[in-house]
Amino acid sequence: MAAQSIPTAFFVGPWDLHRDLACVPDDPAAGSVVLVESVAKGQALPYHRQKLVLVLSALHHFARELEAEGYDVEVVHTPTYGEGIRRHVEARGAERVVALQPREWGLQRSLEAAAESGELGAELDLRPDGGEGGHFLLRREEFEAWAEEQGSSFRMDSFYRFMRQREGWLMDGDEPEGGRWSFDQENRQPPPDESPPDLPRYEPDDLTREIMARVREWPGHWGEVDGFDWPVTREQALAELDHFLELRGEGFGPYQDAMVHGERFLWHSRLSPALNLGLVLPREVVERTVGAYREGRLPLASAEGFVRQIIGWREFLRGLYWRRMPELREANHLQASRLLPAFYWQPERTDMRCLEDSARAVLETGYAHHIQRLMVLGNFALLAGVEPIQLSHWFWAAFVDAYEWVELPNVHGMALYADPSFTTKPYAASGAYIDRMSNYCGDCRYRVKERTGENACPFNSLFWRFIARHRDLVAKNPRMSALLGTWRRWSEEQRQEILEQAEGFLDGLEPAEHGWSFEDDAG
Ligand code: SF4
Repeated sequence: MAAQSIPTAFFVGPWDLHRDLACVPDDPAAGSVVLVESVAKGQALPYHRQKLVLVLSALHHFARELEAEGYDVEVVHTPTYGEGIRRHVEARGAERVVALQPREWGLQRSLEAAAESGELGAELDLRPDGGEGGHFLLRREEFEAWAEEQGSSFRMDSFYRFMRQREGWLMDGDEPEGGRWSFDQENRQPPPDESPPDLPRYEPDDLTREIMARVREWPGHWGEVDGFDWPVTREQALAELDHFLELRGEGFGPYQDAMVHGERFLWHSRLSPALNLGLVLPREVVERTVGAYREGRLPLASAEGFVRQIIGWREFLRGLYWRRMPELREANHLQASRLLPAFYWQPERTDMRCLEDSARAVLETGYAHHIQRLMVLGNFALLAGVEPIQLSHWFWAAFVDAYEWVELPNVHGMALYADPSFTTKPYAASGAYIDRMSNYCGDCRYRVKERTGENACPFNSLFWRFIARHRDLVAKNPRMSALLGTWRRWSEEQRQEILEQAEGFLDGLEPAEHGWSFEDDAG
């Protein structure tokens, strides 16, 4: 039988919501389309309610769009993705299922196993999730080939240069535009006095409101659905991109690391959830960004910083995920074992203003920007010695744009130095960094310049405790070793006082009452 005549079902994962992906046939007559609401995945963690609304609303909007174009579409609500596909296959008499490689390691394995055992009821034709027709710029094997060439040490910076040269984005012949690969030096400004432009609003339509009503009643989840304001369609995601390029992009460059109390997005785009759902694809986002720079609408430093997030960090971390799974879940280089503190779920349970505001941003919106994630919420967990998988699960549950492929390498690799293979040093910082990059400290009940005493900023004693505990690692790292000189210059009494201050603080830290069990591969 010719391949074209095999009755085919196309499985569109809730992260594959784009017409150009290979899991959506060009011709509606090529087969039926199935989208699945997986109960097990939805219940695997106490996901933020806005994240559930976002995923379900985007999925149902996409299904409607396909239906309107004449596709035979079914959305099923089943215990797992595999069960949903099986029921659809049976109902439509399909003999083949076409899908993109799932973004999650566990789901790929379970679908492959179900196809092999006959449980899926059809052969499984997984198409690459990168390259043409994929969700990423590179196929997995292309990243592997690049990584193999690097030997034992591979870094995002060299990957980013490789990607710029490969795609020709922001290049001037063989040289980077403006003579430098990175404009980070210009892009680390503290918060300005001016306010960012107003954000566009994405008022929930009837379909989104129906889903909000459903999710509001679901027990065991975090956050409120009220205030939901995320792009749920491609049209809205493109509007967000246009708004960013026209109004916020210029400020994104210099202020991308800045933090302001009560400000939830500053000059950041709100595109990462839409990108990770497939509502927009990285190539079109980067091409529009480079176009805005070429037309003089976006400064080079802003364009470069934004492009680096997408073709550098996003693509690099996804490559690492597949390279390091499943061992990455177990990585714990610093042997950290503390339970996640309660304030990550309940911001009111800390009086540290930076942490309270960052955790509250996540509670209100399912979002905090990259420096709040890395240098406040992640940095605290690193210094306090929180077990990596606990923070990782929190990120996965709490952030609207988090999936295992992105949060695991970010948390284990970047924030907690649990897998040291791809960062040059732990991202540990004292209160001085937070003070420089935010307006948090002025009104905090703690004093950022003090290391000991009742009002001393806890980040300071925790930072020096971290340096003392990991002195062997610090001594070997040229970017950190000078810190040991400072530590050793202090008297034994001073050092002891700092360590006691840190231990006293940690003794008073309340752990989260978990109350959930999590299966990484649920769904
Ligand atoms: Fe955070 Fe310390 Fe600044 Fe308070 S003083 S906001 S705890 S860094």
